[in-house]
Amino acid sequence: MSKNLRLLLSRSKLTTFLVCQRRFQLRYLEQRPWPEAPLPETDETRLERGRQFHQLVQRHFLGLKVEPAAIADPGLRRWWLTFVQHQPGLPHGRALPELTLTIPIGAHLLHGRFDLLMLGEKEGAPFAHIFDWKTGKPQTDMTLRNDWQTRLYLAMLAEGAQALRADGRHLLPDHIAITYWYTSEPDMPHTITYSQAWHQQNWAEISALVAHIEARQGQGGIWALTDDWSQCQACAYRVLCERQGAGPALSLAADDESALDKDVEFLLEPGLP
Ligand code: SF4
Repeated sequence: MSKNLRLLLSRSKLTTFLVCQRRFQLRYLEQRPWPEAPLPETDETRLERGRQFHQLVQRHFLGLKVEPAAIADPGLRRWWLTFVQHQPGLPHGRALPELTLTIPIGAHLLHGRFDLLMLGEKEGAPFAHIFDWKTGKPQTDMTLRNDWQTRLYLAMLAEGAQALRADGRHLLPDHIAITYWYTSEPDMPHTITYSQAWHQQNWAEISALVAHIEARQGQGGIWALTDDWSQCQACAYRVLCERQGAGPALSLAADDESALDKDVEFLLEPGLP
């Protein structure tokens, strides 16, 4: 079924493949429902509040007024007021909120959606700076640097940001950065700057991962189940895989920001000849 299909790959899809190939196959190629059961109410409330926060920030950068008194949820209102008072300084340039970028990689596509992308010029050289709003638990700089969101987004801009510029100029990796801003640590934004050396290594690893998925796609059959049974505790397919012995089922979204990943669930197009 999955042979000769062009893949649209995002951060959450790549990380799903790395966690468990079978989960990738079931979720994205066979499109089995995920999650199968409704989320606990607390998780649903938290995720919905996160979505609404991102919408408020988007409205702000679109130039629309956000009236705090009109925000009924006290937690959401608190986040918004925190953002208003402590938002990170932005470089001078063009602000593009909720921008989607898709670039080719081999026969497939990489896909990402940035909370806010700033494009401009500094000392005659074009730059790109992503800002990402986080409502979850803050991570260390090292964790963020190794996160697939960081790696994918920076690489995508190095390879494809010229499509976003009217003059079509390429961006040097050294002029690309991402800042993570957390509602719970508003005065401590984490900024990570890309580099040419990092991009060479990063792009090679992303390309190898995509090639691995493509090779697996060509083989058919049941893809490999993870050896790490703890992953099955928070997986919708544990019964299907007969992995009930993995231990008590965990909430599928308790620590899962991928629900806010603004992912595209569709994956497949007919393969190119
Ligand atoms: S239950 Fe385990 S083996 Fe099956 S898809 Fe989920 S993570 Fe993979």
